[in-house]
Amino acid sequence: MGGHVESVIADDQTPGLVCAHHHLYSALARGMPAPPRTPTGFLEILELVWWRLDRALDLDTIEWSAKLGALEALERGCTAIVDHHESPNAIDGSLSVIADACAEVGVRVNTAYGVTDRHGAAGAAAGLAENDRFLAAGGRGMVGLHAAFTCEDDTLAAAAEIAARHGVGVHVHVAEGDSDTWERLRPHAGDDWWLVHGVHLPDDHGLAGTIVHNPRSNMNNAVGYARPTRFANATGLGTDGIGADMLDEFRVAFAKAREHDVTTTPDDVWAWLEPGWSLMPEARDDRVTWNYEPMDPWRLAYSPGVSPTRVEIDGEVVFADGAATRVDSAEIRAKAAEAAQRLFTKLEQL
Ligand SMILES: [Zn+2]
Repeated sequence: MGGHVESVIADDQTPGLVCAHHHLYSALARGMPAPPRTPTGFLEILELVWWRLDRALDLDTIEWSAKLGALEALERGCTAIVDHHESPNAIDGSLSVIADACAEVGVRVNTAYGVTDRHGAAGAAAGLAENDRFLAAGGRGMVGLHAAFTCEDDTLAAAAEIAARHGVGVHVHVAEGDSDTWERLRPHAGDDWWLVHGVHLPDDHGLAGTIVHNPRSNMNNAVGYARPTRFANATGLGTDGIGADMLDEFRVAFAKAREHDVTTTPDDVWAWLEPGWSLMPEARDDRVTWNYEPMDPWRLAYSPGVSPTRVEIDGEVVFADGAATRVDSAEIRAKAAEAAQRLFTKLEQL
């Protein structure tokens, strides 16, 4: 086996996988009504799809979206989620709703409210307050920022201050598209910051922190390839809200890396799971038993369809014989489908 040995427990077991960047609020988005016109670029995808969806969210749809997202993670052996949340018309209490939903399913979560000035200074203040409230109450999280290009300088500074006061990093989208003003983060960013995407960063960008790569999402938005091996920063791996199947994202990440550089090895890409375990170390002690062995990155890179048969989180079996044990997965799917219909109705009224 290779340099990955510490992350493979037995031939058919791994630690719980960690999704280093997720948007649990997007779990209900599949099937949503088509946007008023077809987006022709990344900013239009934000404006016509995601910035409409997030305005339609309320605490009820956030709850069912998070439960569905957590369930889907568990069913794919992902036991810990680093979540980035936005719901501008339901900010106060939203992070607790997400944390409670994940706890009910049994999945670990680190969540953050993505602060932005898109909805004025009051919206930014409410987002900052929600991060502060959640962390002060003992919530597991970071301070979220949507991205520098939608935030005033004062907002960036306030987020950095709140994060430092709570001893956590800032979770922020960075240079996903080519018009981000990411340079404005440089005076603030520290080693515990979570810099998501970095597609359009220069190699010597000078930002401290972990860069979280989301290859499928980047392809889906046609923003370009981040080429994460060029950075001095550690690289983590996330899905950006397209489920939480980390073996699948690993295979996509490997294929994309090989397209760019044929000397990239599966072990190189498997190592991108490490920052998730550094941020949420308890997941290393979770146990996932798979229907395949050995769980060797060189084999997994070329083996679609590998699935968990049993998942143990914090010593408790939370998935066995193809089903979650703490919750009724059929009920969650049914309730989430009802919540999705309510969300789509609101969306069409916006
Ligand atoms: Zn994202």
